[in-house]
Amino acid sequence: MQLAIIGTGYVGLVTGTCFAETGNNVVCIDIDQRKIESLKQGKTPIYEPGLDVLLERNIKERRLQFTTSITEGIADARVIFLALPTPPGKDGSADLQYVLQVADDLSKIITKYTVIVNKSTVPVGTAEKVAAVLAQRLDRSLYDVVSNPEFLREGVAVDDFLKPDRVVIGSSSEKARKVMDELYQPFVRQGNPIYFMDERSSEMTKYAANSYLAMRISFMNEMANLCEKAGANVDWVRIGMGADSRIGKRFLFPGIGYGGSCFPKDVKALAHTAMEMDYDYKLVNVVMHVNDLQKKILGGKVRNYFGSDLSGLTFAVWGLSFKPETDDIRDAPALDLIEELTGAGAKLRVFDPEGMNNVRQLMGDKVHYAEDQYDALEGASALIIVTEWSEFRNPDFDRIASILVHPAIFDGRNVYSMEKMQTLGFYYESIGRKVVH
Ligand code: NAD
Repeated sequence: MQLAIIGTGYVGLVTGTCFAETGNNVVCIDIDQRKIESLKQGKTPIYEPGLDVLLERNIKERRLQFTTSITEGIADARVIFLALPTPPGKDGSADLQYVLQVADDLSKIITKYTVIVNKSTVPVGTAEKVAAVLAQRLDRSLYDVVSNPEFLREGVAVDDFLKPDRVVIGSSSEKARKVMDELYQPFVRQGNPIYFMDERSSEMTKYAANSYLAMRISFMNEMANLCEKAGANVDWVRIGMGADSRIGKRFLFPGIGYGGSCFPKDVKALAHTAMEMDYDYKLVNVVMHVNDLQKKILGGKVRNYFGSDLSGLTFAVWGLSFKPETDDIRDAPALDLIEELTGAGAKLRVFDPEGMNNVRQLMGDKVHYAEDQYDALEGASALIIVTEWSEFRNPDFDRIASILVHPAIFDGRNVYSMEKMQTLGFYYESIGRKVVH
């Protein structure tokens, strides 16, 4: 099938590449000229494991092409995916300007029946808004608008896309449903479901899923804080409760707050949708509040130990991206920590396997960018762990102890065992567990 993807970011590029991988002809469109130029040369502008191999193969097979021209890009497309940004507006609502602008552009150039699919995360009612924009210039027989939220996780996006737990399609058109079914069948061969529903339920499903996951995180973060006071170990509590099949093991890890380009904005947008509909969604508001407080927990521990004025002190920070296996730093808790500690006078030497360039672009020389994880430790009074990259899991602890001015580790992700830290003689603070010293 001939497809066009408008917006070639984390979602658009993975979507386009994976559809090409199943034999479709795909044109990815973006307004960012540099991104498109780099992709034309087979270079991915983002770090996403496994993507480069698929990208190279499908470009070589001429199933995957890139352009900045929307007219050229959609010329033969039977299906057009919108994978455009929906950032939070000032009031917390999802900003639909990119989606609606592209819908307007499309209304000027579509000449034959096309299925227009919203893959961006958009509030309830957006499919109707997009259809209304198209209807201004196009005959109703020329388009159907479908909601098809994306559930991929950065870091494992390719796998998630190729083998989704489920595919959600919101559409009231039988014709569009058939096209979508044909397109997604290769991805559900193991028997995972494609759920067809109405547009509004589909749009809501995405917000419900993300907000529920964010709620699990906030719940566990508060549980961790209570465990610290109660002298319990949140890791045992997590294991004990997660073994219950009604609860499940995943998404129960406490830490220093959720971040990334999705959870913060999606929870906020759901709260805003509720408010617009005159519904006070109390739980969702509390989830956000807890998260804001949790982002301050690790900095608070450092300042409790070293004093609120950190002038003259240097700290090593391992991990900047909002989670491992991605270079995405959007709304990453590391950014809040950097602001807090440098604001208190500290100097920071930071290291992240993939996220350094993005932080450099955002924060310039506010921090020192270390050559590697050990270089970050030079002259540091403590090591602070923010993101649990696997290379931080089993480092050379003797080397860490010998470089640090003070053998102290503040671990925001509970990466190390308390017993090991005790044996090695570190002062060690983590989340929801006793202090080791
Ligand atoms: P992104 O910022 O990485 O990519 C968006 C792309 O759209 C950018 O490359 C930008 O240049 C391009 N763009 C903006 N205006 C354009 C226009 N008029 N024409 C063509 N291209 C244009 O964003 P993303 O992370 O891929 O997210 C896209 C959507 O998918 C959002 O709604 C997001 O909430 C949702 N989503 C994201 C993820 C994720 O993990 N990143 C997961 C599920 C859903």
